Amino acid sequence: MTLQAIRGTNDFIYEEAAKMRHLENVFRKEAALYGFEEVKTPVFEYTELFTRGIGEETDIVSKEMYTFEDRGGRSITLRPEGTASIVRAYLEHSLNTIRNVNKMFYTGAMYRAERPQKGRYREFHQFGVEVMGSNSPLVDVEVISLNISYFNSLGLDNINLLMNTVGCPKCKPNYEVALKEYLNSHKDSLCDSCKRRYNSNVLRVLDCKNESCKEIVLLAPNIGDTVCDECKEHFDEVKKNLDTAKIKYSVNPRLVRGLDYYTKTVFEIQDDLLGAQNAVAGGGRYDNLIGMFNNGKNTPAVGSALGVERLKLALEERGVLALNSAVDVFVVVFKETKDMLLPLLGKARDASMRATGDYNIPSVKSQFKSANSLGASYVIVAGPDEVALGEVNLKNMNSGEEEKVKIDCLTDKLREKSI
Ligand code: AMP
Repeated sequence: MTLQAIRGTNDFIYEEAAKMRHLENVFRKEAALYGFEEVKTPVFEYTELFTRGIGEETDIVSKEMYTFEDRGGRSITLRPEGTASIVRAYLEHSLNTIRNVNKMFYTGAMYRAERPQKGRYREFHQFGVEVMGSNSPLVDVEVISLNISYFNSLGLDNINLLMNTVGCPKCKPNYEVALKEYLNSHKDSLCDSCKRRYNSNVLRVLDCKNESCKEIVLLAPNIGDTVCDECKEHFDEVKKNLDTAKIKYSVNPRLVRGLDYYTKTVFEIQDDLLGAQNAVAGGGRYDNLIGMFNNGKNTPAVGSALGVERLKLALEERGVLALNSAVDVFVVVFKETKDMLLPLLGKARDASMRATGDYNIPSVKSQFKSANSLGASYVIVAGPDEVALGEVNLKNMNSGEEEKVKIDCLTDKLREKSI
């Protein structure tokens, strides 16, 4: 048996896991500041939720889902994204009866059988937000603003916010007709996928990455020019309020995003430093998705999801991902003082300091090496002579300062230091 993780999945070990946790903690704070509450849903759902919710013709559903039969012969899928599950939970638990407007956030692993490359994995993590129950353009702005504010608080700036409107069921079909008309004369030069998309989901041709398709769509009609008055007004309000909030953006008429369910506002946040996989976050409004699962009874909604691994890469690229040390205190003992190890660790922990030592008691040099590699701020050395006097040596690893401290006073001393 080869001991190897599945292709496209990652282990996050020590520092890497600490970075992921840090990103999640900051996200939770930001979401709370914006008045969002957490919803946790299972990592798998009945397949139909995704095929109907995301759309049969999307890349995700047509080729990227991890789908299997459970023991009862039901088709189950590992969630490829978070929105469909949140919609299910919203309807299943009638959340509209609990809050007039539900502002929800989630964090967790998603699964897509994509071709792995830097920034693209088969198991990856998203932090997402969804607001259900308001058609106000102000909500679109809140969702975008939360993302931008989160990225900025981490030190991620110089990112590009791209905006577009994709219209609503009233005006989208007009655009689809216009786009098909335009593409008709170029059909032979489209890639195979786009030849299919022409019939199944023509908007997707707009964001095809194939060079020849990209060239063709350059001169395609702009969706923003064909949307109805209501959609245009909505988009104008979003843009106006982004301006008021001093959030920079550019309108990209080719931005349609991969999922079928978007209406009106769509947006993507890109970081050029990331290379090919440059989208860090994306989202938009989906006023008709809930209705699809609720006998046509629509609830307006808007949401976004950001890719945590890509965010981590973007921050690492800029050298701004603060590393947490693993411990605050490292206790060095000698063979003669080994029985002091656990009591001294206990005293440090009583002062709310994270503490460890080396239970195998190698050389003092080697113990100091471990203290350094764990990023300890303090080292307590329990030398035999000091311990005989009821003392230990306390070394500040940043300043190099050392002092003798009575063992009885150690917790108080460390408490002072941790303030
Ligand atoms: P989406 O759900 O496709 O709108 O994606 C939202 C965000 O999730 C993207 O902007 C990426 O940052 C991230 N993401 C999507 N797919 C992957 C993947 N296969 N690997 C890593 N991150 C991803």
